[in-house]
Amino acid sequence: MKDEIIISGLKIFAWHGVYEEEKEKGQNFIVNAKLSLDTSLAGESDSLEDSVDYGKVCLFINDFMRINRFNLLEAVANQMARKIMVRFPMTQSVELEVMKPEAPIPLPFENVSVKITRSWHRTYIATGSNMGDSEDLIENAIANLDSDENCRVIRKSKMYRSKPYGGVEQDDFYNSVFCMDTLYSPIELLTRLQEEEKEANRERLVKWGPRTLDLDIIYYDDEIIEREHLRIPHVDMTNRDFVLLPLSEVAPYKRHPILGMTTIEMLGRLKESYVLTMKEEEE
Ligand code: ADP
Ligand code: MG
Repeated sequence: MKDEIIISGLKIFAWHGVYEEEKEKGQNFIVNAKLSLDTSLAGESDSLEDSVDYGKVCLFINDFMRINRFNLLEAVANQMARKIMVRFPMTQSVELEVMKPEAPIPLPFENVSVKITRSWHRTYIATGSNMGDSEDLIENAIANLDSDENCRVIRKSKMYRSKPYGGVEQDDFYNSVFCMDTLYSPIELLTRLQEEEKEANRERLVKWGPRTLDLDIIYYDDEIIEREHLRIPHVDMTNRDFVLLPLSEVAPYKRHPILGMTTIEMLGRLKESYVLTMKEEEE
């Protein structure tokens, strides 16, 4: 499905630019926006509640451009695209073009513009903890992420108990997996997760030592990322039933983008088991 709401030629007077004169005097900007969303429900119901109100989007773009001050069109477009997706939650992705037809260029020209596309990304994150109030620490981190406007927690697995992996003598673990949509890039997401890990550790640094909460990115859309500090899909996920079992609750048929196997197929190939029990949820 590829439905779009298209706004073109929205004219706004604002004050973005690198030069002092632009910041003081202001100039005209023109915005084109394409919002991707599923309009089938609105198509059936004929009710505005089931779609995105393009009038409100226009007013929102106008306010955003007039309230904020940026040097670069890149920054205007990037920040505004994210805010549109937060403010209009049905929007799955936004293509934005911000034009500056009166830019201070000492040559005749028609127009300059910056055009970007931003979207929500579906991620799967594995949690682990074996120190402190493990369940609370995990639940807390998930709740903190859900209240971050750039993240939306979609589904959570149950909590599992598992024995330690990797041969180090230590307590049993609590593990779970959750599915989350995010506007963060992979690196930004890693940094955001590390903030949560730090926050969980900070309180317990002295008492419990440094490993109270582990948050690992399992998948980020179907992207394959190989950097020094970030590898997605998570390299060790295929050996860990304490990842694959909870993952099979939230994404049983999702295929590993490199191996091509579903979660259930990967589970079937595991030789060792670490999971001891599944903690039944009260709800
Ligand atoms: P574990 O392998 O048990 O998760 P750590 O959490 O201590 O161990 O590993 C931390 C390092 O792993 C981080 O510094 C991070 O840069 C790196 N890393 C690589 N890929 C990922 C990923 N997909 N998710 C989270 N961290 C990752
Ligand atoms: Mg980790």
